Amino acid sequence: MAEWAAAADSVHRVLLASPRSFCAGVERAIEVVEQALRRHGPPVYVRKQIVHNTQVVADLRARGAVFVDELDEVPDGAVTVFSAHGVSPAVRRAAADRRLPVIDATCPLVTKVHAEARRFAGRGDTVLLIGHAGHEETEGTLGEARERIRLVPDPATAETVQVDDPSRVSYLVQTTLAVDEAAGILDALRRRFPALAGPGSDDICYATTNRQRAVTAVAARADVVLVVGSANSSNSLRLVEVAERAGARAHLVDNVGCVDLRWLAGATTVGVTAGASAPPALVDEVVAALTALGAREVSEHVAAVEDVSFTLPKEARQP
Ligand code: SF4
Repeated sequence: MAEWAAAADSVHRVLLASPRSFCAGVERAIEVVEQALRRHGPPVYVRKQIVHNTQVVADLRARGAVFVDELDEVPDGAVTVFSAHGVSPAVRRAAADRRLPVIDATCPLVTKVHAEARRFAGRGDTVLLIGHAGHEETEGTLGEARERIRLVPDPATAETVQVDDPSRVSYLVQTTLAVDEAAGILDALRRRFPALAGPGSDDICYATTNRQRAVTAVAARADVVLVVGSANSSNSLRLVEVAERAGARAHLVDNVGCVDLRWLAGATTVGVTAGASAPPALVDEVVAALTALGAREVSEHVAAVEDVSFTLPKEARQP
């Protein structure tokens, strides 16, 4: 009760970051599973979480999606969806060998990074992949040319990573990294390898960039920032870090039930955003709770207007 009273006394304003929540790649991936369930009926098998969000996965599971870690858990002949984060060629081959009917929900912006990996490795470069170890996206990209791609997860590795020929080096970036952090790593690589070549357009995707720009502006005006997203969502975790670097206290919450009232004591303005895999309804619930707590003003900082959409893979389009 005391925690509730302290929070209610202090919170006056909610400042929403825009854009926030679903990106085009996540909307497409969810639609792929929904279409597969409609067309083929349950169960539909999905390799890994379709997107990194607890609520999305729970909703689809309730409708008949079965989430598995690896293809050997998929029965012969079962409709199988690859997640938005992409898969390595070895996984594609394994599915083809078993003649599994596959629908690929890999985000087209991840597919672009895979194509660059093949191109750079194919011309003989050592490819430096700036990204986090163990993330499904980096695992998939590394799988394009394991012998030629080296992972660079942090500035220390950028200072020590070895290449075969310094005149033939290129880089790629995981789509959901923090823009400022990746830029620091890239500066170090450029200093060590002046011939470093890169992709024609940024690998960090529009959705990641826009959400980070928006939360940076919000964090500068907020006492605390709530980031709606799941603990395994790379872009949500980056939003927390970016908000902290912009000067606010920031917390990741899977849903409104995870908000700790003690975080709000003494906070006049509460910023709210959501990772690209977090449903907008979860943000609405957080805002409703803050309003119920006494926030009288809800406004929005718009950093960019997004109008990106991706067509569905042909196996998921309406006949
Ligand atoms: Fe695609 Fe970017 Fe969304 Fe990932 S965050 S699914 S790369 S648009």
